[in-house]
Amino acid sequence: MGTLTGKKALVTGASRGIGRSIAERLARDGALVAVHYGRNAAAAQEVVAAIRADGGAAFTVHAELGVPGDVPTLWEGYDREVLRHSDSPGLDILVNNAGITPRGEIEQTTPEAFDEAVAVNMRAPFFLTQQAVKRLHDGGRIINISSGATRIALTDIIAYAMTKGAVDAFTLTLAKALGGRGITVNAVAPGIIDTDMNASWLRGNEAAETSAAQLSALGRIGRAEDVAAVVAFLASDDGRWVTGQVIDATGGSQL
Ligand code: NAD
Repeated sequence: MGTLTGKKALVTGASRGIGRSIAERLARDGALVAVHYGRNAAAAQEVVAAIRADGGAAFTVHAELGVPGDVPTLWEGYDREVLRHSDSPGLDILVNNAGITPRGEIEQTTPEAFDEAVAVNMRAPFFLTQQAVKRLHDGGRIINISSGATRIALTDIIAYAMTKGAVDAFTLTLAKALGGRGITVNAVAPGIIDTDMNASWLRGNEAAETSAAQLSALGRIGRAEDVAAVVAFLASDDGRWVTGQVIDATGGSQL
């Protein structure tokens, strides 16, 4: 029996990177996992196949999160598939992971890039969660993926940092709003993690790799599994008394 046996989870942006790691970890812990993707259906199917090969249960759900009208589509897909893969409806764990990182100092940030970051990083988690609340069982979990960039000033991702600050505020207020139902709401704030999001400036650039590693007290760049482990704790029964918190998963970048 895993710590999440019998639970149902939805992870957004789970076709790669941190989301994929979270989906795989929650499935390994026993949850039935909905692997959400935006564009890459084949990659999402590959995640489902990997989970099943590992003895877990998963299915895909689709929505382009930059498009407001797509949130209901995601839930229609979820409600249909969850009944195909289990004998009851509903949801236990929502992980709002999907996100984008527009790069640029304040002078270079275009209205289009800003609006897209707001749509994917702020608007989508808000309205996705609004629908999730109707499906979440009492005692459920909402875990938002924020960023260490809300506390470590990286001036080339200024619009991104602003949207993640909003995620932290959402986490705090939603925890209070849903506490009466025993639902916990927390955020996990990763530092620099070696994913495709950072590939263009990090991978193979020795100077960037060294300074990224030195940013953490533990002296290395983070891995997606490091973040998934924190999410797994918050999702489990052991995390039941933690709510409204932003949990640092930066390897101690602010120390
Ligand atoms: P990634 O780019 O590898 O993955 C992001 C995921 O979000 C992808 O699966 C992508 O398909 C999905 N997504 C993006 N835009 C979408 C849209 N419009 N519609 C549907 N899906 C969309 O990035 P990652 O590094 O795995 O990041 C995951 C989360 O972690 C993000 O919220 C990111 O801000 C946060 N984060 C990452 C780091 C890091 O260093 N990698 C650090 C702090 C926080």
